[in-house]
Amino acid sequence: MFADILLPIDLNEPDTQARAVTAAVEQAEAFGSRLHVLTVVPEFNSSIVAGFFPENFEARAVEAAREQLHDFCGKAIPAGVQVQHIVAHGSIYNEIVKAAEETGCGLIIMASHRPELSDFLLGPNAARVVRHAACSVMIVRD
Ligand code: ADP
Repeated sequence: MFADILLPIDLNEPDTQARAVTAAVEQAEAFGSRLHVLTVVPEFNSSIVAGFFPENFEARAVEAAREQLHDFCGKAIPAGVQVQHIVAHGSIYNEIVKAAEETGCGLIIMASHRPELSDFLLGPNAARVVRHAACSVMIVRD
């Protein structure tokens, strides 16, 4: 049913998203879907703070994220699944919604939130993606 699936991954919290990754892999294997695995390097809005970082830090952070994402996918996604790696830079939920549109994904699969924030049923990015995405969204709870 879904030829293209977006799997947004927070590389700072890879273990907390294990169930979402499993769900995405199962879908991809069952239906031959392509997995577009996205990580977003968040934007620094404070120019005062950013002024203390070395020049080019954002480009370097994107490069480091690209390497980490390849590493993560190599370990978490079986070789038979077709994977596209995407690294974006900006506002997290915005980039997730944009990537879903640009890749023509019919489904986004993501974890609800970090377990330590369990007072909230939905984390801030998960909630915004549900509200703003034009495609289907599967929220996987632990
Ligand atoms: P929390 O603040 O508890 O982590 P979020 O809503 O930010 O809650 O996280 C839920 C999901 O949002 C994550 O499992 C992941 O799918 C997505 N997400 C969060 N941060 C990023 C990021 N930097 N890049 C890609 N996806 C992210």
